[in-house]
Amino acid sequence: MKNENKFATKCIHAGIEPDASSGAIMTPIFQTSTYVQNAPGDHKGFEYARTHNPTRRTLETQLAALESGADAVCFSSGLAAMDAVLKLLKSGDEVIATNDLYGGSYRLITKIFDKFGIKSKFVSFNEIKTLEDNITSNTKLIWVETPTNPMLNIVDIKAVCELAKKHNIMTCVDNTFASPYLQRPIELGADLVLHSATKYLGGHSDVVHGCVITATQELSDQLHFVQNAAGAVPGPQDCFLVLRGLKTLHLRVQRACENAEKIAKYLKSNPMIDKVYWPGFEDNPYHEIAKKQMSGFGGMVSFDVKGGSLEDAHAILNNTKLFALAESLGGVESLIGHPSSMTHASIPREERLKVGLTDSLIRLSVGIEDADDLIKDLETAIKAVKKA
Ligand SMILES: *Cc1c(COP(=O)(O)O)cnc(C)c1O
Repeated sequence: MKNENKFATKCIHAGIEPDASSGAIMTPIFQTSTYVQNAPGDHKGFEYARTHNPTRRTLETQLAALESGADAVCFSSGLAAMDAVLKLLKSGDEVIATNDLYGGSYRLITKIFDKFGIKSKFVSFNEIKTLEDNITSNTKLIWVETPTNPMLNIVDIKAVCELAKKHNIMTCVDNTFASPYLQRPIELGADLVLHSATKYLGGHSDVVHGCVITATQELSDQLHFVQNAAGAVPGPQDCFLVLRGLKTLHLRVQRACENAEKIAKYLKSNPMIDKVYWPGFEDNPYHEIAKKQMSGFGGMVSFDVKGGSLEDAHAILNNTKLFALAESLGGVESLIGHPSSMTHASIPREERLKVGLTDSLIRLSVGIEDADDLIKDLETAIKAVKKA
């Protein structure tokens, strides 16, 4: 009933009911491992906390509503969520994934699941034809990440899902960078949506958490089976923190988008800066797809210093005061990162350069501070390059 509301109302109300035993308006943290039964098998639907937890269940219900899914399943991290999705496959099956995947996702597929006979291919999804050419009768999962990290490339979700459906292949979209406020892949045909809730959903850099939202109840049943059988469940405190974060998701992401736009435009106007990667620019190659499938351009901006030396990048990275030098993204505070030495250091340099990921590329996760202060902070840091 409440799920028919608009997004902002869903953030506050979807799936949330006052606690039946006390009337508490906020979902309690059910910090318990087991539940008392009246008689063997006679219980209130909760037997053991790996299998069921009311705090977790409330969060799953809300996540399903926000992503327009049938249901959701929560895990102890984004990668634990991905691990569960990959466990729906069997030896001999094949995954095709976008070629500029989150490093941890690439590692999970190639270093863990490969050992169990799950094959993988990493290709550009820019041309649907290229993707189709890579499909075989063993292809069982297409893994999409959009926007990508750190180049902010955008994949046409609808086109990929249509192709996948034609070949009877399951699709999973990693929606971590966009959040359901900006992009809802199930509405575009995806079977599964994955989040590292550590990022925008939690939103306060205080929790590691993951989830999968499913288009059908059947997929949710399969994933709940893995959740219970393999056991990578989140604790109730962590579920509470994500529930709390979700209440302001729409406000936080909206402000992050506004700030990112101002910062991207400032960087583009600065003669010390070469390329600025932000899909909101009309001359960005992904602008039209972004406009079609997203309701905003996101809070991430990447840029390259003119001349492109490592020293110049370091000068900026070492001289911001508000932007904190750290991995991760999607929190209320702005972060600055150096992909080639931090998040993407495990990728060989030649591979990095092929996709434009130079030694001087800098990535910003724009927070919800005042945009003028953030721009001033960047301006001061960029002046440090001139002195060098
Ligand atoms: C962080 C991240 C993950 C992994 O999530 P964890 O919560 O760190 O396990 C997966 N995909 C993307 C796009 C991410 O940014």
